[in-house]
Amino acid sequence: MSASQRRVEAIIFDLDDTLIDWSNPSVSREQYYEPKIAAIHDSLSSAGHKLPSVGEFFILVDQAIISVWAEAKKNWQITSFGDMLERLLMELDLDLNKIDMDHLLRRLDWGPRPGVLPFPDTVPVLKILSQMGYRLGLLTNSFMPMWVRDAELHAYQLLPYLDARISAADIGYLKPHPNIYLAILDTLQASPERTVFVGDRPLNDIAGANEAGLISVLMAPPHLNRLEENVVPDYTISCLSQLLPILAYLETG
Ligand SMILES: [Mg+2]
Repeated sequence: MSASQRRVEAIIFDLDDTLIDWSNPSVSREQYYEPKIAAIHDSLSSAGHKLPSVGEFFILVDQAIISVWAEAKKNWQITSFGDMLERLLMELDLDLNKIDMDHLLRRLDWGPRPGVLPFPDTVPVLKILSQMGYRLGLLTNSFMPMWVRDAELHAYQLLPYLDARISAADIGYLKPHPNIYLAILDTLQASPERTVFVGDRPLNDIAGANEAGLISVLMAPPHLNRLEENVVPDYTISCLSQLLPILAYLETG
């Protein structure tokens, strides 16, 4: 069957706990962020900007992160890390005209969190799906721009398979808001009813996919227990390989 004759034309994946396994990170969120925020502090201080101590600065950034996410959950609109940082630096009376935000984001030196890896079947399944001619996309509820998180995808060797990638930070909306699904469908030139969405969070990934009219697949790896959340996916899998028989069924059923 050629790609154009198939029922499904595109498959979109969530990133965290869908393509990569967060069951066993070997450093905490704080341990991961601390040197990154220290690098930003160092960059600003070396340029002559007056800042609180690195320890105090870390606490301020951490509080800002917590407050951005608390706010985002009210209406599914997200402030990006860059905009959040800009706001904080303004509150600290720094002259934003003298600060290159892209440079500061590069100083984060973003990459995989130690201990977090793709699931064993992630690359093989993406390769098969790509060879079958499906257009593949990635939609992540991250407040980092996609170009920052691409460092992880590059390290995990996932980049070559993903035809479109959108981070919530780039759009300003989080899953389950329909706008972020429309954005990636538009990029992939795919219609919702011919697109499968795979994600691990019922209230974000699945609720949004259902509302936007996509075929929803709940990824429920053994280390998560999200089946009790009251959102019904079209299909449920516990590893990505289980997607292959579902696609075969969708094409013939
Ligand atoms: Mg996830």
